[in-house]
Amino acid sequence: MRIGLIHVAQETNDFNPLPTTLRDYESFGLHLGAEVIAKSGGLGQVAGHLKAIADSGLAVETVPIVRAHAVAGGRIDTESREYFLRVIRDGLAAAGRLDGLVLQLHGACAAEGLDDVEGEQAALCREVLGPDVPILLALDHHASVTRRMVDSVTAIVGHRTQPHDPFDTGVIGTALLLRIIREGLRPTMALRNIPLVTHQEKFLTAHGPMKIWFDRARAIERENPKVLQVVPCPMQPWLDVAEGGWTVTVVTDGDGALAERVADEMADLCWSQRDAFLEREALAVDDAVRMADAEPKGVVVLSDTGDTVFGGSAGDSNVILEAVLRLGVTGPVLIPMIAPTVVARLWEAGEGATVTLPVGGETATAFFTPLEVTGRVVRLRSGPVPIAGYQDGEVDMGRTAVFAVGPVTLLVSELRGVAGNLPDVWRAHGIEPSEARIAVLKTASNFQFFAPISSRVIRADTRGPGQSDVFGLPWMRLPRPIHPLDPITDRNVRRS
Ligand SMILES: [Zn+2]
Repeated sequence: MRIGLIHVAQETNDFNPLPTTLRDYESFGLHLGAEVIAKSGGLGQVAGHLKAIADSGLAVETVPIVRAHAVAGGRIDTESREYFLRVIRDGLAAAGRLDGLVLQLHGACAAEGLDDVEGEQAALCREVLGPDVPILLALDHHASVTRRMVDSVTAIVGHRTQPHDPFDTGVIGTALLLRIIREGLRPTMALRNIPLVTHQEKFLTAHGPMKIWFDRARAIERENPKVLQVVPCPMQPWLDVAEGGWTVTVVTDGDGALAERVADEMADLCWSQRDAFLEREALAVDDAVRMADAEPKGVVVLSDTGDTVFGGSAGDSNVILEAVLRLGVTGPVLIPMIAPTVVARLWEAGEGATVTLPVGGETATAFFTPLEVTGRVVRLRSGPVPIAGYQDGEVDMGRTAVFAVGPVTLLVSELRGVAGNLPDVWRAHGIEPSEARIAVLKTASNFQFFAPISSRVIRADTRGPGQSDVFGLPWMRLPRPIHPLDPITDRNVRRS
């Protein structure tokens, strides 16, 4: 048996005006052919796919085509969109006869001039492979699942937890595809659109309304073997696309009526909790900074929710930096920032130099303005940043500079990478993050990397392309009406 394998993932933030380019994919590792597996390092969805193959005991040849990942950012540029279409088309054409395809995408990727990048990629796969080869589509559950995606593939699976477990998704996707091929299953799908967009503060699946919703998905799968997958997708809240909003997709074995019934049940359960998903935890910025400073022991994680790099923000917000300096926090405070122009100035000045310059607020100018500070250039660095157990084991963040501004250690980078969201990034720059009192993270959900060294998490209600205030985002394309932006009580309301 021969199974094709494609993995292309990016999560788009429509409120970050900076396009995502091939260099962003390359900074995390863009691999073709045999390298897809050789470089997987036992991690992620590709490794999960291999695990499912091994567990099956079947003689399966994987035909790897591409693996590329760019975390999150602005819409992908046309060059990236066309590049991946070409790689997919050529890769499938060269693959020879396939018995199935594992298509690992994100589901919330938009391009310049195109809302549904993954619908286009899935449709291309179907076009090349023809109607009879099963295609298994694996998605991030923050996807905006579209009709084109559903119509182009045989079955869909999604991440089952937040924080995500991509390895698990790789396992369940390929295991389902093998069942479809071996057991002759006839997957039938139902898609329900739910007119909802919420902030990410209730996105963790370990508690609250999201736990209730995701637990019910797993319970339905256990209760009825004809239900192959229940995929709740709380769309990430920064995707401004024509089919945007939450969805649930249900895959059954040949029972369309059952799929529709389960989709309705899951949509109703979600809708009944729509206001619980909107409850806020984030504190006003000054309150959050004061609370973090008052904590007797560190490291306190201070989440810059509006500038979440893992949610596609630009990463150059200076809002918390300004508050820390103004409020007289003693520190040490670690703050990452993605700002190529600042890096250039600091590199020009050299290590040891004292520099006064505007920092941050250059990219998403609808939300921020530059802030002038004076500091000392502590360290300059370039080359891939080693990160144990993450992606390819290293991430290229371009040239970087450690810049000491009063109590703040700024880590400024040219490329997005993972900002300072993983402790190893700081360590690669000679800074032990466990010795800081406050670490500002550019994420509102992915605190797991700092969890072993942090004492608590405080979310700051910062503005920015990833802000929790969904009312304040400049929506243009989202179908309306949608809760809570519009006053609706019926989830079956007609939208346009
Ligand atoms: Zn996600």
